[in-house]
Amino acid sequence: MKDLRKFYINGEWVDPISSEQRDVINPATESKVAMITMGSVEDVEKAVAAANMAFPEYAQTEKAERLALLEKLLEIYNERYEEMAQAITTEMGAPISMSREAQADCGSGHLQGFIDAMRAQEERVMLHNGDILVREPIGVCGLITPWNWPMNQVALKVIPALASGCACILKPSEFTPRSAALYAEMIDAAGFPAGVFNLVNGDGPTAGATLSRHPDVQMISFTGSTRAGRAISKDAADTIKRVTLELGGKSPNLVFADCGDQLEARVRASVEECFYNTGQSCDAPTRLLVERSCYDRVLEIAEQVGREQAVGDPAVEGDHIGPLVSDIQFGRVQGHIERAVQSGVRLLCGGAGKPGGFDTGYYVRPTIFADVSNDMPIAREEVFGPVLAIIPFDSEDQAIQIANDTAYGLAAYIQTGDNERAERVAAKLRAGAVHVNGGGMEYGSPFGGYRQSGNGREGGMLGLDDYQEVKTLHFG
Ligand code: NAD
Repeated sequence: MKDLRKFYINGEWVDPISSEQRDVINPATESKVAMITMGSVEDVEKAVAAANMAFPEYAQTEKAERLALLEKLLEIYNERYEEMAQAITTEMGAPISMSREAQADCGSGHLQGFIDAMRAQEERVMLHNGDILVREPIGVCGLITPWNWPMNQVALKVIPALASGCACILKPSEFTPRSAALYAEMIDAAGFPAGVFNLVNGDGPTAGATLSRHPDVQMISFTGSTRAGRAISKDAADTIKRVTLELGGKSPNLVFADCGDQLEARVRASVEECFYNTGQSCDAPTRLLVERSCYDRVLEIAEQVGREQAVGDPAVEGDHIGPLVSDIQFGRVQGHIERAVQSGVRLLCGGAGKPGGFDTGYYVRPTIFADVSNDMPIAREEVFGPVLAIIPFDSEDQAIQIANDTAYGLAAYIQTGDNERAERVAAKLRAGAVHVNGGGMEYGSPFGGYRQSGNGREGGMLGLDDYQEVKTLHFG
């Protein structure tokens, strides 16, 4: 068991002020894998004070100096890559093959994406009217991250903060502190000045809220539930700080009959993508909208994929899915499935309870509901588990109307054999990203949502913008 009770503040691993401890549980074995301290208001204030002290000098560093630090961090990250993949698998249950290919890969991929963006960004620009625009770091940033893609979200916040010349305090999810502690060790080894990066563990209402309310924190970047995003926005309001939010989703995936002979491949990939990371991705395509003329065929394919979807031990290599992150998440997902079954929604495969042979671990059955109406809770609420809702449509206009009939707007997906249709439909979908025929996310592209999926964009050039202020110089 890892002892992670210390915090990283002002360039050192320090004893916490709080004495409240918490066990970190491996969701596959239900055994303790680490112990953390739940930071108090005083612990967070100590970290903010360290960041506040470090900021003025770090803000004045040359871009080339910060680029060199990030390049060193990338080198160290790549050396310790396997440790990162193992840490993520142990703390949140992503299968080790997926941790290596995707979860840990986000750490190096985003770092490279930001290094490229930083090189391309001009810090000083002459406007057409002769005024000069200068980019400066916003200040001390509070970074609050969730457990579902732990390194992805840490990298998307810590790197642009440090790249821009900000000082920061990371409060990672209390469920995934191992990857965050390992990342802090890497930042320490890369030689960033003391106080520009600080790590404090803790819960949302105490440690998180102290950051959101703190007058010396100029920006909060948060990823997680819409509930917490709302609380953070309110907590941050009194000090008028910048708040960027990456929240939930209920992303539509529009399947048109014109997929032709690609229909099976497109539906197979769509269902697998919904189940990926055991459904714990904010942009998962969880509503499959299917044109009526191919509806029966799509149900056959989807059911087959659902039944074939392997569930297994995350410590073992392979393309199976692992358990959910926690007993709490297990209970939430079971509740969503049970309520849908009880209300009479047609169950194609899966259902409540654990898959056969899994008494230990927070494993759930990959589940598909058919003939869903978009006003049912299973089509409106974010489940965050391997649960797909299939909804029929009769026309392109109706598909767009159903797709946009949601409080969210993070991602949308289109499966079609007609490129003109893809462009036409994509233009009408209210979402921060539209994926056509399996097109994936590239490092360096912006990521973020419309409406209640949040605001701000993470990654690459636009991801740097969020951590910068713009000053205009008017010379007489
Ligand atoms: P959460 O939003 O409660 O936690 C995410 C992070 O926010 C953690 O670090 C947590 O400590 C912190 N936090 C919580 N409340 C806070 C507050 N009031 N002030 C400041 N920080 C706060 O997420 P959860 O409870 O772990 O999961 C609940 C649901 O959220 C899931 O079922 C899922 O639907 C959704 N979720 C979405 C994402 C996403 O990427 N969009 C990620 C995780 C969870």
